[in-house]
Order: sequence, then structure tokens, then C-alpha cells
Amino acid sequence: MISSVTTTLRPKPDSAAVAAVDVARAVLVDDVGAADVGEHLGHVVEDDRVVTHFFACERPGYVGWRWSVTVARASRQKHVTVDEILLVPGDEAIVAPPWVPYRERIQPGDLSPGDLLPVDDDDPRLVPTYSFGDDPLDADDKAQVRAVAHELGLGRVRTLSPEGRDLAAQRWYDGDGGPDAPLARSAPDSCTTCGFLMRIAGPLAETFGVCANGNANDDGRVVSLDHGCGAHSEVRLAKKHEPQPLPDPVVDTLSRREFETW
Ligand code: SF4
Repeated sequence: MISSVTTTLRPKPDSAAVAAVDVARAVLVDDVGAADVGEHLGHVVEDDRVVTHFFACERPGYVGWRWSVTVARASRQKHVTVDEILLVPGDEAIVAPPWVPYRERIQPGDLSPGDLLPVDDDDPRLVPTYSFGDDPLDADDKAQVRAVAHELGLGRVRTLSPEGRDLAAQRWYDGDGGPDAPLARSAPDSCTTCGFLMRIAGPLAETFGVCANGNANDDGRVVSLDHGCGAHSEVRLAKKHEPQPLPDPVVDTLSRREFETW
């Protein structure tokens, strides 16, 4: 029986390249100036006869950054040469947060009047209401089909795909209208028994409705049936919390003249 073992060969540290700290520093100082170069922080072996040395960066505003100087020794040569100098962030460096495409950054409420937010042709949340057939269409063909569908009055060009519907349902359920919202956790009862819940049609009817209580925080919003709030239609105050009845009115019969002569 033959067994095979895959091993990753580590490059062998080249003693000349590892020892070339002074060479790396000299070239670095020559390039960026002595004031910006701090102590030697260590090295990593990049490849056979290729080593990167790190030096602290003393440049103001670059706390935690370090200079990376890569040196290499050509085969059968005694001396190393400096290949590359870089300023790289260390663990403590202040760096910009990772870039996120604007589409993933947009949140509900970000759109201002006049803003446009086009949806991609292949947005998985939408499917064409009518079929494009089996042949893939390019953008021009799709635009033509859309124009014809619009002229014929076929209604909406695209509708929610199952994926788009599931994404919306999950978002609503996990959000402020779901069962885990703080308002719902301390609610006396759930929306499913509330008279202000408006039922919706369609596949989400068993899970969601719309709150129609103008005094509730969720008025006009989609709420899950197991959401709830203190404005539930059947909420009653305990006797001790009910408003005290007003005393009987007193009719003041004293006229102005009686008052002045009194
Ligand atoms: S008033 Fe409260 S309990 Fe009633 S439907 Fe609206 S959110 Fe649900």
C-alpha cells in the first residue's frame, strides 16, 4: 500500500540575509531619514535567500507602524541587496476599517429625497414577472423586453424572488418588529391577539401583519405575530393604576354683585 504525505517545505534561513540588519537599516535610513527609523523588531524568512527585516517607525502619526525591508542574496553571491522598502501596519497600528462596497453599507433611512438607488439586472431578490425564456439575454435585449412589457401593461416588470422574500422576512423578524425587540420582550401579550393588527395576504401572512395603532411605536410597520407592545388592544391597567375618579362638580352661585357687597 502506498501512502502519500503532503508536506510544506519551509524556506531555509539564509545566514547572510538574516545577518544583514545593518545593510537593511543603512538603506532604509538613506531612503527615509534616520529620525524615522527605530529599533530592529525582527525578521521573517520569505523564501530561499530572501529575508524581510522589520524596524520600528518613529514617524509622528504612525504609532504601531513598522518599516519592512526585504533583502535577498543571489545564488553564489556573498553580499545581499535590498529589494523593497515598505511601511506596514503592525498589530497596534491605527488603520482605516476594511472597505465595504457602498451597496452593503446602505441602511434603511439612508436614502434622501431625490436620491436614486438602481437595482442590478441580476439582483437575486427579484425575478422577472414574465419569462425571458431559456436563452440568456444581454442588457439591451432585457431593456427591450421591459419596454414591450411596459407598453402592453403587463404590470410589474419584476417581483420578489423566494430569496428576496426570505431575506426580508428574516430581516423583519430579527429587527424591531420581531419577537426579540425589547418592546416585545416586556409586552403583556402578542400582536396575534391584538385588535390593531392588520392581516396581510400572501406567503408571509402566517408570520407577519401590520400594526395599525396610531399610539404604538410600530404604527404602520410590519410586525411579526409574536411581536407585541404595551399598547395591545386588550391591555387593562391594574385597579391601583387606574385614574382616580374626579370629585362631583361644585356650582358656584355667588354673583359678582353679591361678591362686591359682601
Ligand atoms: S399595538 Fe402593539 S401589540 Fe398591537 S399590533 Fe401594534 S405592535 Fe402589536
